[in-house]
Amino acid sequence: MENTVAKKLEALLKLQSIDSKLDEIKRVRGDLPMEVQDLEDELIGIETRIKKISEEAVKLDEEVSNNRNAIKEAERLMKKYQEQQQNVKNNREYEAITKEIELQDLDIQVANRRIREASAKLDRKKEQISETEKQHTEQKITLDNKRKELEAIMAESMEDEDKLMKEREKRAKSIEERLYNSYMRIRSNARNGLAVVTVKRDACGGCFNVVPPQRQADIREKRKLIVCEHCGRILADVEEIQIVPQEKAKRTIGKKKAETAAPTSPTEEQV
Ligand SMILES: [Zn+2]
Repeated sequence: MENTVAKKLEALLKLQSIDSKLDEIKRVRGDLPMEVQDLEDELIGIETRIKKISEEAVKLDEEVSNNRNAIKEAERLMKKYQEQQQNVKNNREYEAITKEIELQDLDIQVANRRIREASAKLDRKKEQISETEKQHTEQKITLDNKRKELEAIMAESMEDEDKLMKEREKRAKSIEERLYNSYMRIRSNARNGLAVVTVKRDACGGCFNVVPPQRQADIREKRKLIVCEHCGRILADVEEIQIVPQEKAKRTIGKKKAETAAPTSPTEEQV
C-alpha cells in the first residue's frame, strides 16, 4: 500500500517535471508567436490604408483632369462666341452673346478654383502615401526579423518538445486515469502550471503557505495522497534541508555571530 502511493507520487512528480519543461519551452517562445501575428495584422492594416489613400488620390486626379477638360470646353465656346460677336446684326444679339461669354468665363474661374483645391488635396494624399509606405517598409523589416527569431527558437526547441511530448505520453499512460484527471485539473487552475509540488522550508512549493509539522510527517510517510490545504496542490514529498558542508558551516557561523541582528535571513530560519 505504502509502496503504491509512493510510486504514484513518483510518477506524478516525473510528469510534473516534464510538463514544467514543456511550459518553459512555451514561455521562451513567449509572446513571439503573438507578436509576429500582431505585426502581420498591422502590416495588412497599413496596406489597406495605402490602398484607400491611393483610391482617394485617383479620384482627386480625375477631378483635376475633368476640370481641365471643362476649361478647354469653355475656352472653345468662348472663342466661338467671340467669333459670332463679330457678325452680330444688332445690339440685343451682341448683349446675349456677351452674357454667354461671361458665363463661360465664370465656369473657367470655378474650374480653376476646383483644380487648385483638388491639387492641394492631392499633394497631401501623396505625402500620406509616401509616409505610409515608409512605415510599411520599416514594419516589414521588423516583421521579417521577428519571424526569423521565431523560426530559430522553434527550430531550437522543436526537437526537445517532440522528445518531451513522447516521454510525457508514456508517463501519462502509467498514471491511473482518475489521478491523471485530477492532476490536469489542478494544473489548469494553477497559475504556474504546478499541480505536484514538494514541501520546501516548511512551506508548500506551490503557494508558499506553511505546512504544519504533523502534515509534513504524513507526507513523508506516503501512505496516502495529501494536498495542500491552501492551494489544493498535491504534496509529493518533503525536501530535506541541505546540511551545509563543514568548511562552509564554520564560515557561516562566524558570519552569523556578526549578523545576529538580522533574523529574517532565510538561512537562519533553516538552521
Ligand atoms: Zn499550497
